Amino acid sequence: MKRLDVGPSLTWPTEALRARSLIGGEWVSGSANTTTVTSPYNGQSLGELHHASSSDVSRAVESAASVSKEWRLVPIKERASLLLEFRNLLARDIDRLSVSAALESGKTFSEAKAEVLKAIEVVEFASSLENSDLGGAIEVSRGVSCEYRREPLGVVAGITPFNFPAMVPMWMIPIALALGNAFILKPSDKVPLTPCILAELIAAAGFPAGVFSILQGGRSVVEQLVVDPRVQAVGFVGSSAVAQAVYAQATSTGKRALCLGGAKNHLIVAPDADPAITVDGIVASFTGCAGQRCMAASVLVAVGNVDHIIDAVVERASQILLGRDMGALIDAAAVSRLSKAVATAAREGATIRLDGRNVVPPTGSEKGNWFGPSIIDNVRPSMECSCVELFGPVLSIVRVRTIDDALKLERESAYGNALSIFTTSGSVARHVADRATSGMIGINVGVPVPREPFSFGGTKDSKFGVGDITGWGGVELWSTRKKITTKWSTQSDKNWMS
Ligand code: NAD
Repeated sequence: MKRLDVGPSLTWPTEALRARSLIGGEWVSGSANTTTVTSPYNGQSLGELHHASSSDVSRAVESAASVSKEWRLVPIKERASLLLEFRNLLARDIDRLSVSAALESGKTFSEAKAEVLKAIEVVEFASSLENSDLGGAIEVSRGVSCEYRREPLGVVAGITPFNFPAMVPMWMIPIALALGNAFILKPSDKVPLTPCILAELIAAAGFPAGVFSILQGGRSVVEQLVVDPRVQAVGFVGSSAVAQAVYAQATSTGKRALCLGGAKNHLIVAPDADPAITVDGIVASFTGCAGQRCMAASVLVAVGNVDHIIDAVVERASQILLGRDMGALIDAAAVSRLSKAVATAAREGATIRLDGRNVVPPTGSEKGNWFGPSIIDNVRPSMECSCVELFGPVLSIVRVRTIDDALKLERESAYGNALSIFTTSGSVARHVADRATSGMIGINVGVPVPREPFSFGGTKDSKFGVGDITGWGGVELWSTRKKITTKWSTQSDKNWMS
């Protein structure tokens, strides 16, 4: 246990220390309800969260609706130039954003920096929309043309989880803004500070006040926001139970909704897998962000005898230093949930190869939420650790005889975010990719997150709604196509071009 990897020590921005709501370009303190934001690293107070009141929610929607009437008419080239400025500000302030995201979510500084880089990638994609196909026209018969234009929806909302304070909001914000929507963000009440920095940079880039708003708080804010008739579409990322509930609420009031949920990702290891690439991929996948990623490896499906790889995974994971290689869990409840899961697996007869319970915290961080990498072998498919999302650095190993047995396990999972196959055989890789039910497939890749412009999204209980959240899926989500059919006389005595 060595130093804490929270990056360069930077001055915490005064504004962000108070996580307030941003309505019509003004920071407001909201209701009298405040809670303390604490760092998972050491339990230290980072700031105060001011929960939005019911009238704040209504005012934010009102203000966004008002500004969206003008904003939707701004040419996309102008909107894209603001996004390019925003992109430069994100790059300028990457350390500040990464420190903030690391401190409030518990991840390491380098993991936080990686999430900001991914956020920047989405902004770059969104700004490139100015030169992409955002419409089209064709002469369908003499004198008659059909045209489609991609148009904004109006006021749209995004609700985001704790594990990526910068990246997940940015899966939605840039594309929605590029297309001319006014966006309202309801960040996780566990990580409300980093989104305030994003808001500050959006304003500094020159976006008009009210085009981007933040409503801070929890369930009550979400429940009011997603049924407000002035909100046209809802993007949600979080646990499956809440995703399903938000999807039902939003669609019951006629809104477009895309709600991404939890996951239980399978990594299949074939006997011919390349040991080096496989061990790297598996360890990084299940321990990265302390396993608090919806793309994290959760079940290693060992096909036949791959003990040499499993032994190397256990060895490598046992070398991980908390606070340097791996961060903390979000809260004490998460530590307790994982401790119980490991205890249950042991009681059910599984073999605990690596035990993350009762680890020694890094010096000076005794009050943090620490849990070490854990590996549970000889897991049966019916056990809790094989099928329930644990959301932590716990890898369950299920042993099967054939690739098709492995695929059956994945097919029967309630979730469908990611599946990876580790093999040196092209035909095995193809067989798996063709038959897997997950939305994102990795071939010798532990965390198969698609880069832009490819879109992010799973299947089954990992996603409620149609489409995907980033890339071209995001363009479809945050816009509608207007179809215009025009007929003019083919005869004209005027030549306007002369
Ligand atoms: P969560 O579901 O508890 O919270 C997500 C958001 O919903 C937060 O903004 C929260 O304030 C709000 N919320 C919580 N309970 C609510 C309720 N009852 N009604 C309305 N709103 C509510 O999720 P979390 O713990 O912040 O994040 C972890 C979960 O998110 C994991 O399940 C993880 O797999 C999932 N996740 C999924 C993806 C994906 O792309 N599929 C990405 C990141 C995280």
